[in-house]
Amino acid sequence: MKSIKEQLLQLVDLQKIDLKIYSTKKEMEKMPNELKKLKEEFEPRLQSYEEKQKELKSKEVSHLEMESEIKGKEAHLKQLQGKLSQVKNAKELNAIDAEINATKKSISEMEDEGLKTIDQIDNLKKELKEEEQIIEAEKKNIAELETKIAEKENINKKELETLTKERDKLASKIDPQILSDYEYIARNKEGVGIVGVKNGVCTGCYMSLPPQTVHDIRKGMEIFHCQFCSRVLFYPEWEN
Ligand SMILES: [Zn+2]
Repeated sequence: MKSIKEQLLQLVDLQKIDLKIYSTKKEMEKMPNELKKLKEEFEPRLQSYEEKQKELKSKEVSHLEMESEIKGKEAHLKQLQGKLSQVKNAKELNAIDAEINATKKSISEMEDEGLKTIDQIDNLKKELKEEEQIIEAEKKNIAELETKIAEKENINKKELETLTKERDKLASKIDPQILSDYEYIARNKEGVGIVGVKNGVCTGCYMSLPPQTVHDIRKGMEIFHCQFCSRVLFYPEWEN
């Protein structure tokens, strides 16, 4: 059976491995969140792009409809102009004249409207082109991050396997009671279950310990816990 002092030092080594395992796992949890955040930020931009695309489609359709309406009105105008040579009296002439003028006015209004629509279509196309570039860059970013995460995850998985093997090997040498005591505290203290005593102070919570306790801890004959933070205490000078 190993001495308490030896077992506590093994516990310190075990904790070093545990902290590596702890931070590796933390990192593995964090990276997919970064990706999620990036994708969430990207979503509204993509939506606005799609909405603009729809707007462009509908403007193009209404422009085509207007053009065909103008063609119809132009044909009608020609008919009216043809009738002019067949008018029989002034009243008829006036009526046709009035209709010709009204049709011309309507065509001219529609042409103005058509020019406005063409401007809007051009602007939308320009905006869409600019946004396409931003979206492409953003997609590239996301893809790169995905690759990076996948690579890092592989590395971390292998690292975890190695660390876990090392840990199991070391843990098997420590008294199960001491081990489970440490594990219980570590779980509740961000992975730090055993800490050194330095200048009479617990380096886990930085509270001063009674001199007699410090004296007893130094002897390394039994397990002591910090009376303030409950962590297992050891004497760092043993490591030398
Ligand atoms: Zn403490």
